[in-house]
Amino acid sequence: MAEFTKQVLRELPQIDELLRREEVRKAGGGLPGEALAVAVREAVSDLRRGVLSGMLSMGQLRERIARLPDELRARIATLSRSSLRPVINGTGILIHTNLGRAPLARGALERVVAASGQYASLEYDIAAGRRGSRGDHLAHSAARLFPGCLLHAVNNNAAALLLVLNTFAQGREVLISRGELIEIGGSFRIPDILARSGAILREVGTTNRTRLADYEKALGPSTAMILKVHTSNYRIVGFTASAALEDLVGLGRQKGVPVVVDQGSGSLVDVAALGMPEEPPAGALLAAGADLVLFSGDKMLGGPQAGLIVGAPEMVKQCAQNPLSRALRLDKMAIAALEWVLQSYASGRAVQEIPLLRMLFEPAESVGRRALRIARSVRKEAGSLLRIEVVDGASLTGGGSAPLTEIPTRLLSVSSQTLSAAELDERLRSGEPPVVGRLHEGRLLIDPRTVLPEQQNGLIAALRSLAAREPGNQYE
Ligand SMILES: *Cc1c(COP(=O)(O)O)cnc(C)c1O
Repeated sequence: MAEFTKQVLRELPQIDELLRREEVRKAGGGLPGEALAVAVREAVSDLRRGVLSGMLSMGQLRERIARLPDELRARIATLSRSSLRPVINGTGILIHTNLGRAPLARGALERVVAASGQYASLEYDIAAGRRGSRGDHLAHSAARLFPGCLLHAVNNNAAALLLVLNTFAQGREVLISRGELIEIGGSFRIPDILARSGAILREVGTTNRTRLADYEKALGPSTAMILKVHTSNYRIVGFTASAALEDLVGLGRQKGVPVVVDQGSGSLVDVAALGMPEEPPAGALLAAGADLVLFSGDKMLGGPQAGLIVGAPEMVKQCAQNPLSRALRLDKMAIAALEWVLQSYASGRAVQEIPLLRMLFEPAESVGRRALRIARSVRKEAGSLLRIEVVDGASLTGGGSAPLTEIPTRLLSVSSQTLSAAELDERLRSGEPPVVGRLHEGRLLIDPRTVLPEQQNGLIAALRSLAAREPGNQYE
């Protein structure tokens, strides 16, 4: 080690000595001694690294040591700052997996708080005074929503698929169209999950065309299931064919083979009017004869992360009895939220109450009026520094539903004379709360459709501060 480096290192204060200093203890702000010592050790070892890598000169090191109490305060603050932070979603993608998919309704949140901050009747039958089942909380609404069927809920839809395949097709064949061997995203691939479940994949048909006859040909004594997977995030167009669910059901009945639909983004309300005929409600799939339908809780349903298995009572019971169910089970917070969500659907109030559905069904004119209000409010403060206009555009459902369906919307288009769209975007993301928009052809676009009503003022403030932070602005 160079003599100079050694000399600089000798400037580093001793941990014990630092911990005795009044200003260091004050910076700790009541933090227990050991936790403060850890923060001090981290700070000093950062300085040592800086010296050893040649990044810190003697002068800079002394300056950093003098500022050590401030640095400690900042370090300690990050210990308790949430990394999972609320974000304003201006992307217009309703089911944005990276942004946590469906935001929960206030009613569902209240149930979560009530059920998890105290002891709760999670697996306790209060009337009988004995053990109950966590599935009971969902059973009542499920019976109203899916007459004649049972519901079993697990951790997510991937878990639902794994459980169903493992329960009915371990060591046996599952027929699935080549056009449905999809990757959902985050490297979740249908063939991989099928292999892990112990089932054997039997591909039928071709990528663009699969007919009933293809299933008939492949079906044999080792066939355990016909699986239909909703091709969530892409669509094959042109010269295509796929077997209708009704035909598959007919074939399955004839041969005694169950037909299972992985619907992915299962909805319980009819969204055909929004131009999404390829998203039939789960009830319609069951009515068409599907033995089981699987879908996510936090996609179109608008609830917490969960995977719902709905269908033939005997089959659902078998899933619930599979030992894997224990590893895939829902926790009390998700059950509390899901119970509320299913009740909301069962009582016919879902479209008014569930934020995701409210966003989905909001007419473009209404989004446009909100866009105008936001734009005016920002212009009042931002003057001419920020150009903010309202333009036509499209929202997307995302999350693997209706891949090509664009929902007409009105967008805020933000531009500035001094900052590029990328710079505006960067500034909005670094604000509090962060605003995530969409960059398009040199403009920053924000879709008010996905901005929750309680976040609207936050968005206005964020856009105003964009103008305030522009160089040369009178507000600087
Ligand atoms: C999204 C999706 C899944 C996975 O659901 P998660 O709830 O994210 O586990 C499975 N299948 C289909 C068709 C999907 O769209």
